[in-house]
Amino acid sequence: MQVPAQFEYQRAGSVADAIALLTRHGPESRVVAGGHSLIPMMKLRLAQPEMLIDINGLDELAQIRIEAAGDDTELRIGAMVRHAQLLASPLVAEHFPVFTDAERVIADPVVRNRGTVGGSLCQADPSEDLAAAFAAVRAVAVITGVDGERIVPVRDFHTGPYQTVVGDAELLTELRVPIRPGGGSCYLKVERRVGDWPVAAACAVLRLEAGTGGGTDATITEAGIGLTAVGAEHFVAAQAEDYLRGGPAAEERFVEAGRLAAEHCHPTADQRGPADYKRHLAGELTVRALRTATARALGRPAGQEA
Ligand SMILES: Cc1cc2nc3c(=O)[nH]c(=O)nc-3n(C[C@H](O)[C@H](O)[C@H](O)COP(=O)(O)OP(=O)(O)OC[C@H]3O[C@@H](n4cnc5c(N)ncnc54)[C@H](O)[C@@H]3O)c2cc1C
Repeated sequence: MQVPAQFEYQRAGSVADAIALLTRHGPESRVVAGGHSLIPMMKLRLAQPEMLIDINGLDELAQIRIEAAGDDTELRIGAMVRHAQLLASPLVAEHFPVFTDAERVIADPVVRNRGTVGGSLCQADPSEDLAAAFAAVRAVAVITGVDGERIVPVRDFHTGPYQTVVGDAELLTELRVPIRPGGGSCYLKVERRVGDWPVAAACAVLRLEAGTGGGTDATITEAGIGLTAVGAEHFVAAQAEDYLRGGPAAEERFVEAGRLAAEHCHPTADQRGPADYKRHLAGELTVRALRTATARALGRPAGQEA
């Protein structure tokens, strides 16, 4: 089936307007962002919304900016930011190269030009790259409804494959990421061919406190390890994070963290590979991402990671 079922269409003029439309039309209405997941699903009749609410005009949700939040600063990424915009952002590359790395390997330019950050997270595909990256940086999601905004940690955002905590009459409006000094991050993915969904991917987000040895004795004060497409709970390797926190940023500890990440994920075999291969990738990519995140945190040039 390549033709969607009949549906009504309305263009929202503001966030409040979109929420009013969702409320009025009930659970049979859906918002469309980039449409790269929803429209194919409608063509296959896997989704049959009676009312499609277009949020592409909501420029207020398409901003990337830095804001003060109490004593902290945050990178704020609107839900309608396109993949291409995230990829091209100097602010993102400076503070969280994990997103720049991930965006380089998400789909192709056609998809990246339309697909959005919010659509990616709300689609909640277990193979979707940004969920692990946002979970690893410990971002929070801003969800807006008739009663105003609520804040949910991204680690609690996904409730299962293709399921999130966003209600029928709510919109994901923004992602907020705390910016801390001494941070470094990296996302690595293995794909069967350029532009494909991951066989597996891993990312590392570290905050280091340098010792007196010029970086050789740096301590990990915060660790985030994200895993994609390997059945990791909340898209993270919590045991590896706990192991790393408080210890030195040293190769043998990265190897052990990789072992823990591989041990505690639950990959399944599919057309992209057998489960044991994906488990191996989860471990190896975790080790490599940790090396690069450390090098970036310490300001070392590429190629001198370990
Ligand atoms: C050929 C192809 C290859 C791809 N490869 C990859 C890949 O390698 N890695 C990867 O991570 N992704 C990949 N994608 C997914 C793509 O990157 C998009 O992220 C994805 O399609 C969803 O974003 P969208 O803006 O198109 O969402 P839409 O299709 O518009 O929406 C998806 C779902 O989210 C809901 N939604 C959207 N925005 C909001 C919001 N703000 N609040 C509440 N609900 C919302 C919609 O109602 C719908 O249910 C690929 C897609 C295609 C078509």
